[in-house]
Amino acid sequence: MINPSRIRKLNGREVQDGRYVLYWMQASARVVDNPALLYAVRQADELGVPVLVVFGLTTRYPEANLRHFTFLIEGLQDVEQELEKLGIRLAVLTAEPDEAALRLAGEASLLVTDRGYLSHQRRWRAAVAEQVRCPVYQVEGDLLIPIEEVSGKSEWAAATIRRKIHRLWEQFLVAPDSVGAPHKDSLGVRLEDAINPDPAFPAGTEVDRSVQPVASFKGGSTQAFRHLELFCRDSLRHYHSLRNDPGQEHQSNLSPYLHFGQISPLSIALRVKAAKGVPAVAKEAFLEELIVRRELAFNFVYYEKQYDRYTCLPAWAKTTLDVHRRDRRPHRYTRDQLVSADTHDPYWNAAMEEMRLTGKMHGYMRMYWGKKILEWSETPEQAFDTALYLNNRYFLDGRDANSYAGVAWCFGLHDRPWPERPVFGKVRYMADSGLRRKFDMDSYLRRINALMAD
Ligand SMILES: Cc1cc2nc3c(=O)[nH]c(=O)nc-3n(C[C@H](O)[C@H](O)[C@H](O)COP(=O)(O)OP(=O)(O)OC[C@H]3O[C@@H](n4cnc5c(N)ncnc54)[C@H](O)[C@@H]3O)c2cc1C
Repeated sequence: MINPSRIRKLNGREVQDGRYVLYWMQASARVVDNPALLYAVRQADELGVPVLVVFGLTTRYPEANLRHFTFLIEGLQDVEQELEKLGIRLAVLTAEPDEAALRLAGEASLLVTDRGYLSHQRRWRAAVAEQVRCPVYQVEGDLLIPIEEVSGKSEWAAATIRRKIHRLWEQFLVAPDSVGAPHKDSLGVRLEDAINPDPAFPAGTEVDRSVQPVASFKGGSTQAFRHLELFCRDSLRHYHSLRNDPGQEHQSNLSPYLHFGQISPLSIALRVKAAKGVPAVAKEAFLEELIVRRELAFNFVYYEKQYDRYTCLPAWAKTTLDVHRRDRRPHRYTRDQLVSADTHDPYWNAAMEEMRLTGKMHGYMRMYWGKKILEWSETPEQAFDTALYLNNRYFLDGRDANSYAGVAWCFGLHDRPWPERPVFGKVRYMADSGLRRKFDMDSYLRRINALMAD
């Protein structure tokens, strides 16, 4: 049973005589716990037609580079194999996502898609719903609870959204139905221009190769579930006490997989809840991050239209940063110096190296990293743009709702005013002495040095 609040019809069209039900896959690139796929299969069985899945692969995707594409395509290879076992054809077209959907929608009885929250993802879906002659259903599968069920407005902070989520979450924390093979298979559907997903882009393909793929993370649902199992076995029980320590590795490493829709938050939450020998406090701490904090970020990008601009910050933060814009800044670095990890601060440099080399950064260091960019830039606006640019360029999990909320948090979003100080005004400050006081930072430096030596 798919919770009905996950399903929304995006246009007023009637079912057409067609060759297939088309599932336009974009945000939920997986087979396990994919309610959009499940919905498409059920509709196809009712109509007596097969399901065809289409994915539009464009090298012009906003802010994407070879690092992101490699991870995405590794994931699509998993999807292709899993769908084939169900007798479902995956058609990867080299086209903008909306264009790919439109190309195949002409012969569809009905079109199903998953849900994206960023402005371009919303624009694509609206354009497709308007242009096709068949009905378009959008099925939410990448949040535990659909956004409007939780709140009809932009939430102020975790404290204000937490109780709204807690009120609903038991109702949504239920094992999903698994998707079975549809009555009719689509493996024989002939398509002229479909390609095999292959991370080795042929030479000459116009793709931004300036950021290289990483060895540390391979894309795909198989890998996502492997990380989940390792985390439940080795780290979950320490999550509440040690997750913030950059010298230790007790995070789940699931954010790239969540970002590409290769695993659902529901799959993760159910597995964590079922973990044996783990104290309740550890599970609660993890579910707080995975559900409350993550879905707060989606609430932010959904209700705040300018989520990627400095103007998105709360008024108190912009006012206080403005008051302090002419304060003396003892250290200033250009974007190039930052990219080269060429600052006076060894912890910050290590965090930047971690980002460049692995496509990820320890969660606590992300906060420190963003705060220092604010401290060392000419203006807060410039700092905001630089932090977001680097975040989205190097992180595998960049370009996510969490990217926009995470960067904006460094500038006061979802936080409260703190005692006033230079440059930051009332925005929370973080110091290197705080890192040393709380954690064994030498251990973090050793870990990153070892990565660099590899
Ligand atoms: C400046 C800054 C930039 C950030 N940029 C990103 C980004 O580009 N992409 C991204 O996914 N996250 C971002 N975050 C949030 C957070 O740091 C990462 O989600 C987390 O470190 C991912 O690693 P993990 O999956 O191993 O985390 P775990 O600690 O294992 O957490 C599990 C999941 O919970 C969610 N989560 C954990 N911490 C947070 C948090 N603080 N806010 C919201 N959700 C959270 C994530 O979905 C994460 O995958 C950013 C935070 C800051 C302060």
